[in-house]
Amino acid sequence: MKIHEYQGKEILRQFGVPVPRGYPAFSVQEALEAAQKLGGPVWVVKAQIHAGGRGKGGGVKLARSLDEVQALSGQILGMQLKTHQTGPEGQKVRRLYIEEGADIRKEYYVSLVTDRATQKVALIASSEGGMDIEEVAHSTPEKIITEPIDPLVGLSDEQGLKVARAIGLGEASQAQAVGLFQALYRCYMDTDASLVEINPLNCDSKGQLIALDAKFNFDANALFRHPEIVAYRDLDEEDPAEIEASKFDLAYIQLDGNIGCLVNGAGLAMATMDTIKLFGGEPANFLDVGGGATAEKVTEAFKIMLSSPKVKAILVNIFGGIMRCDTIAEGVIAACKAVNLKVPLVVRMKGTNEELGKKMLAESGLPIISADTMAEAATKIVAAVQ
Ligand code: ADP
Ligand code: MG
Repeated sequence: MKIHEYQGKEILRQFGVPVPRGYPAFSVQEALEAAQKLGGPVWVVKAQIHAGGRGKGGGVKLARSLDEVQALSGQILGMQLKTHQTGPEGQKVRRLYIEEGADIRKEYYVSLVTDRATQKVALIASSEGGMDIEEVAHSTPEKIITEPIDPLVGLSDEQGLKVARAIGLGEASQAQAVGLFQALYRCYMDTDASLVEINPLNCDSKGQLIALDAKFNFDANALFRHPEIVAYRDLDEEDPAEIEASKFDLAYIQLDGNIGCLVNGAGLAMATMDTIKLFGGEPANFLDVGGGATAEKVTEAFKIMLSSPKVKAILVNIFGGIMRCDTIAEGVIAACKAVNLKVPLVVRMKGTNEELGKKMLAESGLPIISADTMAEAATKIVAAVQ
């Protein structure tokens, strides 16, 4: 789950990471009031959307008077902000953050992520802050410092100091940097984050560090123990089909292709998408109905897939383990009838009560195309969309 920058900064503040003063605003009037409370003389008007690259897209602007705050807020609020992370249609700006302008001297990059290779949380830092970190990693990988953190020890002072020096922070800032990295690590662990990114971390002319941006991702599987983070959720920023899916406990991610996929188990879902691609097709979504693929869940899954006009055919690929194939067949038949399915449907099922399930599908009178292997299912679905 993602949150807005201003919410991220609220969390950072709680963990003792310095951030500029600022207030969120939902209207130009509120933006103006926020600017008055802050007092100036320099303000930054920042679009709040769940995507980075806002600065380059025109969503972060400096204001030197209250009139300018008002004019810029009017411009940015409601705009369709396009960044390299929003896709070509952009994202509508519904919230602003009005922040005091910082004295920028040098911008650094700091983040924490879970590094699968070392099975540890890694502190990543760079002297090249303020820009696209993927670009830095690509063109000057030596400028990215990665420090794995031992979960039993945490981030030691020595490690913090090593990283602070490696990115070229001066003596005057090093002790503060160590404390900041450690606070960030506590924040990452305590909130069950999967990413905390500060880009840029500014070092001002006095050597003081301050976080000018804040990006968080949280592990959705840990949200049950963080009601305070769930409260930050902004449904306007999420895909409507994905919101609908989450209501039914379906793991659903919208993609660009035209073959809807309904699968049980994330591994099988990934393998199914790979196989579709291998046979020249393009999946329209990732959809894992999970262990309990009841008729109700399958029906909702069909409805969600079909809400996209791009979906030209559906492939159901089910492994009947604990869930028996006849139960799945029942669900698929009920769902087909409930949604009055008009696009071709290929069903492959394997496992417990497979024969019974296939027989039920065959006798249903519905135009269901049956397949036995993954390759056969992929061949048939790709033919069906052409
Ligand atoms: P994004 O990463 O989405 O472009 P940022 O919050 O990083 O948005 O803002 C973009 C740039 O704007 C920063 O790299 C920084 O140079 C500048 N900036 C952001 N906040 C402030 C601030 N409070 N004071 C001065 N400059 C800022
Ligand atoms: Mg940024």
